Parts: sequence; C-alpha cells; structure tokens
Amino acid sequence: MARTQNFDTIAIHAGQDFDPTTGAVIPPIYQTSTYVQESIGLLRGGYEYSRGGNPTRTALETLLAALEGGKHGLSFASGLAAEDTILRALLAPGDHIVLGNDVYGGTHRLINKVHGAWGVRNTTVEMSDLAAVEQAIIPGKTKILWVETPSNPLMKISDISALAELGHRFGVTVIVDNTFASPALQHPLAFGADVIVHSTTKYLGGHSDVLGGALIINDDALAEKAQFLQFAAGPVSAPLDAWLTVRGIKTLSVRMDRHCSNAQAIAEHLQGHPAIDTVYYPGLPDHPGHDLAKKQMRGFGGMLSLAFAGGAPAARAFAESTHLFQLAESLGGVESLVNYPSEMTHASVRGTELEVPDNIIRLSVGIEDVADLIDDVEQALPRR
Ligand SMILES: *Cc1c(COP(=O)(O)O)cnc(C)c1O
Repeated sequence: MARTQNFDTIAIHAGQDFDPTTGAVIPPIYQTSTYVQESIGLLRGGYEYSRGGNPTRTALETLLAALEGGKHGLSFASGLAAEDTILRALLAPGDHIVLGNDVYGGTHRLINKVHGAWGVRNTTVEMSDLAAVEQAIIPGKTKILWVETPSNPLMKISDISALAELGHRFGVTVIVDNTFASPALQHPLAFGADVIVHSTTKYLGGHSDVLGGALIINDDALAEKAQFLQFAAGPVSAPLDAWLTVRGIKTLSVRMDRHCSNAQAIAEHLQGHPAIDTVYYPGLPDHPGHDLAKKQMRGFGGMLSLAFAGGAPAARAFAESTHLFQLAESLGGVESLVNYPSEMTHASVRGTELEVPDNIIRLSVGIEDVADLIDDVEQALPRR
C-alpha cells in the first residue's frame, strides 16, 4: 500500500494537478460564471454555474480537506460566511449553542445578534472548565459546542478531545475554529471534533490580500446540507480569491515555523519587562495552557498578547508607537501587526461577558527578521 503523504507535501500537491490541456504546472484561474453544455443537461466535467461549482474553488476545497485530514472541504467568501453556513445547517429556532467566553468577536455577534433574532439561544462559558461547559449544555436543546483554541486575544488553550467527548455524550456537534493554529499546527478532527471552521483570510491565505473562509466536515449528511446552503444561499469564494488562497497555502508550513519562532523570541524577550504585567503566549512554560498546547499542537503559533502595567494609556501609547508592527485589525499575514482589541477587533463585544480589558495589546508576529521586530517593540515600550 502506498504510504500516505506528509503535511508539507499535501500542502503543495493536493488538488493541484497540472492543467491537462496545456501542461501548465499551476492550475488556471477559471474566471467564469458559466459553462457550455454538450447537450441539454450533459455537462463537461460536472460544472454548470459557478455558484454551484468552479474548478478553481474545487482545487482549494480539495486542498483544504486534505490539509485537515477531513472528507469534505467547502470554501466561502469569508470566515463568517462559512460560520453562518454551518450554523444554518445545524440549528433551528429554539435551539441552543454553547460557545467559549472569548471567541472571535464577530462569531459572537453572528450567533447572538443574527441567529439570536431567529430564536437561537446561546450561553458563553469558560471552555477550559469542563464542569462549567457540562452545566451550560441543555440536553436535547444544545446542538453545538463552539470551541476556539488558541483563543483571541488571551491565547487560552482548550482541550479539544475532552470537549469532543463531553459534547458527544449529549449528542452535540463539536465545532473548532482552527484559524489561530492553522492546520500546520493543529488537527482538531484527529481529536474528535466534528467540524472545523477557518477564516482563510488569516494564516492559510497568509499575505493579507484575500478574504475567505472554510468548513471541513467528515459526516456526509452534514456536508451535503452545508453544500446545499453554499449553493442555495451563495456565500461562495470567487475564483481569484480561491486561487490566491491556494498560492498562500503552499508556503503555510514554512511560514508557520517562522511565525512560531519569532513569536517565541518576542514573548521571551518581553517576559519580566517592568512595563508589562503579563505576556500571553502558550509557548511560555508558565502559560496555563502550555502543557495542553504541547500535547495538541505542533507549535505555539504566531499570536501573542500583552497586558500593560500602566493600563489603557500605556497600551494605547505602545500600539501607536511601533513602526514595523503596523496598527491594523486582522492577523496571520507575513507582515507584523499590532491591534488594540478593546476598541478594534473586539469593539463589538464591549459590554458583554466577552469584553477585553483595555490594557491588552495583541501582536500578530510576522516573518520579518526577529532582531528587527524586537528592536521595534523595545523602542515602543516605556524606557526601563
Ligand atoms: C477573522 C476571524 C474570523 C472571521 O473571519 P473573516 O474572514 O474575517 O470573516 C473567525 N474566527 C477567527 C478566529 C478569526 O480570527
């Protein structure tokens, strides 16, 4: 039997066969909305209309499924479009969802405001507290357990296999948002999760030049429901966007290695600095999720957060003083970014239990030279 390929090979080859008509090594961007039929209903290659399917999107979807070791990959116009699709596939009015108390702000807004208006109820809970999660589950009503690990912005680590086991005891579908780790560092399906969600806008795309989202699903019936919604509601990724995402994914693994080593170096450099109360990075041995992260991740990622001793004024001053770390939302690109969550990425959850303290700064550590990054951080900190 042929040996199954390893991740770094899959990332470059899955779904990426050369173009049979020209031999082009890179599959083309099929920038078309529709397809000529041989005769009525007789399709060449199964494609009819690009909302239903497009070869460039197929190439990305095949790749996404292979990267996560899943059966079905579906690609969307954004991470939230992917999330909305799986929520609709699983929930009906009156149903209930349990989600982490520090999920991505847009996820909370989508569940609370958009699906809430259609009668879906939710409870936010500390995902590292299994007893609290069990308490939050309403047997028969709770349909989804929504897990994000590492979480945003405090990099909390949740135990995917323990949560999957707990959810399955109550017949709950366990969804993991794997955006922060990327499939290069973490494979939630292997720990028992049912569905993986990605904002491919972040590490998978990797270059801050394209929006996208993905679902990876093993269950055939659930995948069929999500595929129907993808076609019937139309939140699909465009051909050029799918192609850019594929191009980004080819270097995912080498990028993640550098993101991890740069973030580790910066975290270690900043730990103990008098201006900083806490460095939140799972690669630090005293991070509460360090041992668990070591068990379920291949690396600790490129995201870290800092709590400033000088409160909001110190945090804001830092965010506005870096040069290489540009002040912007989003994450996961090759360039470093700094973000002030309480007024930027997490502004939508102010006044909720997901509110982020105003002395927190989040760094998306890029793949620049680490000495330059450390210099930049140093010059932005208050003098020692
Ligand atoms: C950005 C992000 C999303 C939403 O994705 P979009 O592509 O912006 O729609 C969801 N989850 C996490 C963890 C994110 O960082």
